[in-house]
Amino acid sequence: MEERKTVLITGGSRGIGKEVALIYAENGYNVIVNYVSDKTDVTGLKKELEKKGITSLIIKADVSKEEEVEELVKQAIEKFGKIDVLVNNAGITRDNLLMRMSKEDFDKVIEINLKGTFLVTKAVAKYMMKKRQGSIINLSSVVGVTGNAGQCNYAASKAGIIGFTKSIARELASRNIRANAVAPGFIKTDMTNVLSDTIKDSINNQIPLKRMGTAKEVAELIYFLGSEKSEYITGQVINIDGGMVM
Ligand code: NAP
Repeated sequence: MEERKTVLITGGSRGIGKEVALIYAENGYNVIVNYVSDKTDVTGLKKELEKKGITSLIIKADVSKEEEVEELVKQAIEKFGKIDVLVNNAGITRDNLLMRMSKEDFDKVIEINLKGTFLVTKAVAKYMMKKRQGSIINLSSVVGVTGNAGQCNYAASKAGIIGFTKSIARELASRNIRANAVAPGFIKTDMTNVLSDTIKDSINNQIPLKRMGTAKEVAELIYFLGSEKSEYITGQVINIDGGMVM
């Protein structure tokens, strides 16, 4: 029997990350889910994942803290011996216009979204390099490509993720490790639930397909990028946005 593959998803307790965890579980992967908040109850998620007949590990760690990331990856390797697919999904917003944006809110978003992606990738790539195999998928955003008023911190972090992804794709290709970024548009999750109905309506009007995307739709793309079906794709930014950016 073929050995089970293992996926690590940061920020997998809710939204897009949770759908990614579920799709990998459905496809027989061992699933490691990371989250951060004390308020997050992950017992239901563990049950949901293991109902699909796989083994899961759910680990609390702040991706912006190096020691916590080291411990997260150490526990994952101790349990499963390898990580085949890494999904750097953990992310936050702290929106404001430039003139009202505090240094703290700017730093926080860069620390979690961009530095967190770097820290987790560095810790995991070490093991992927030994196996000479792996796929890394980083969550960017359409606003990392186009910019967005009121999101200079978030857009900078997501643009940074694109440069980071292309650089590591070049560095790691010779070890048979691929790296791609996914750039979602507006996806229905807690992150976008905070928007008022008026803003949601105006956003929907600007989307050629006239609706927000679902976390499941993004998860399907991420699964494809982690799989052998995308073996010749690396260093790319794939938009999934109902046609917002063409
Ligand atoms: P979400 O529903 O707000 O969930 C965020 C996830 O990240 C949660 O699991 C949260 O854990 C985790 N997290 C936050 N800070 C963390 C930290 N310091 N360390 C570890 N985990 C942390 O977000 P989402 O909408 O699914 O977005 C997922 C990713 O897609 C993000 O990178 C986001 O920027 C990107 N994206 C989303 C959209 C969209 O429209 N939703 C569009 C473009 C890009 P807890 O549950 O413990 O808080």
